[in-house]
Formats: sequence, C-alpha cells, structure tokens
Amino acid sequence: MSISLGDITNILFKPFYFLLKPRSLMKNSKLKWKCISNCGACCRLAPEERSEALSVLDDDQLKQYLEMVGHDGWCRHYDKQSRTCSIYENRPDFCKVDSTVRLYKIDNNEINNFCISCCKLQIRSIYGGRSLVMKKFLKKIQAN
Ligand code: SF4
Ligand code: SF4
Repeated sequence: MSISLGDITNILFKPFYFLLKPRSLMKNSKLKWKCISNCGACCRLAPEERSEALSVLDDDQLKQYLEMVGHDGWCRHYDKQSRTCSIYENRPDFCKVDSTVRLYKIDNNEINNFCISCCKLQIRSIYGGRSLVMKKFLKKIQAN
C-alpha cells in the first residue's frame, strides 16, 4: 500500500479509531485514503474536543498547539472562508499526516484504515454524516 502524503493538511485526529470494531475497519480495506480540498475539519483545535490528540504531543508541541487555538476553537491559521491553511508551507509537523501516524504509533499496514476512519469521524463532527463534505470525501477515497 502506498499513500501520497503530498496534499495533506492537518490530521491530528481523534483516535477513536482504536475503539472501532474490526468489521468497521475492514470496510475501509478497498478504499484508499486521500485528503480533500476545502475541508479543514481537522483544523478545529478546541482543546476540550481534542484531548486524545493533545495527549500524544510533547511539551513544546503542546505549547505550540495551544497558541494556535483561536477564540472560536478553530486554528488561527485556518481561513474559514476558503477552508484552507494560511501557513500551509510552514505548518507545524504535527499537522502532517506522516508525523501524526508516528505520534499515534500506527503500524504501516494500518495507516490507510486509520486515516480513513479518523477523517470520517472528524468530518462527521464538523459537517455532519450526510454533508456534502462527507460525500466528497467518500467519493474521493473510492477513486483509483
Ligand atoms: S479531515 Fe481529513 S479530508 Fe478533511 S482536511 Fe483533515 S485530513 Fe483532509
Ligand atoms: S496550521 Fe494549518 S494545517 Fe495546521 S491546524 Fe492550523 S490551519 Fe490546519
């Protein structure tokens, strides 16, 4: 399995992934994870909603994370109009999927399932399970 990490924005997911049943993980086995444009669901950083993510950061990362949280719970660098990161080229390492899977110590053969499951959770919590963003994501991960 190979995963392109080039277009990822932020993937500090809620690791409820670990609580998912094997059957729900198997549903992802024929899908290929990809980040979609104009989503940004994982750029909502409100600490009270991301305790699992905070728990894997070291002290320096935690400080940087908390400094990024805006008054509305979204990252200060997230442009809500365009749904893009305004510092994409200079975003912190923990905003990159390859760093995040290392933080959560995800096995290589589980990265795809992990990313798909976490994106679904994040998109559902922000936009809803029947949202256009969710439909766009589900369509994208089915594409070859
Ligand atoms: S929730 Fe997933 S699809 Fe949406 S921006 Fe984050 S990584 Fe990309
Ligand atoms: S720095 Fe960019 S990618 Fe990271 S959370 Fe903020 S807006 Fe999202």
